[in-house]
Amino acid sequence: MADKIVRAIAANGQIRAFAASTKNLVEHARDIHNMSPIAADALGRLLTGGVMMCAMMKSAADVLTIQIKGNGPIGTMTVTGDASGNIKGFVSNPQVMLPLKDGHLDVAGAVGIGVLTVIKDMGLKEPYVGDTILITSEIAEDLTYYFANSEQVPSSVGLGVIFNSDATVKDAGGFIIQLMPDASDETIDALEKKIARIKSVGSMLSEAKGPEDILNEILGDMNLEILDESPCRFYCNCSKERVSKAVMSIGVKDIKEMIDENKAIEVNCHFCNTQYNFEVDELKDMLAVITEEN
Ligand code: ZN
Repeated sequence: MADKIVRAIAANGQIRAFAASTKNLVEHARDIHNMSPIAADALGRLLTGGVMMCAMMKSAADVLTIQIKGNGPIGTMTVTGDASGNIKGFVSNPQVMLPLKDGHLDVAGAVGIGVLTVIKDMGLKEPYVGDTILITSEIAEDLTYYFANSEQVPSSVGLGVIFNSDATVKDAGGFIIQLMPDASDETIDALEKKIARIKSVGSMLSEAKGPEDILNEILGDMNLEILDESPCRFYCNCSKERVSKAVMSIGVKDIKEMIDENKAIEVNCHFCNTQYNFEVDELKDMLAVITEEN
């Protein structure tokens, strides 16, 4: 099944909901970054939450970045995506390993205590930046807290990644459910009761439940209306041309030094782990372009 984001409303528009199926994009991230199960679980949750948050943005040119900086061994986690369902991400230490905690991958232990930052670039002069502290470091609760505190939107976020016995991703997905400002006390109560009783996304995925099933499980008796669905994928827009522009921006002096050392250079894209090699002749061409421009 292809990855997708499903949008829905419930309780006659007092609730809006998103659910995503992200198995392929999380498995792709695990594969290109050669991630351990904990790293793939943590980044997979963040990619899944991120891609649904991207779907909330209005314009196709809007860009959303979420960064989690904790003091745990995984280091910094970064995901960035757009409103068209393209998302990419990486963690500082993709090979992090920790003992299981209560029979589960210890994502909170890998992330540690820290801060979650959401940056939304909507083409305005200044991007929107929201910082919140990590509440549980399990990602979903941290995003729930972010929505309540930075965006003042009461929300419930559930995220999960499950694995095959060979440590490849078996399935991944999640939901974001939000109360609209006109939600009645009755709707709020009913939703809170429902959320308190639902199974984890991981166990729903183990039962082969897709995004519509997850929404049905939570909002099925609250007049759920599925609105639409759209594809999502892991996509990095890097290219040799873009990377060469970045190399050129480091300046004439540094490029001259590299040429003098007569050594080809390697530049790695952190997001997709693609290696770009520049031969000395290519560095000379870049230098010529810069000198010509100035
Ligand atoms: Zn890339």
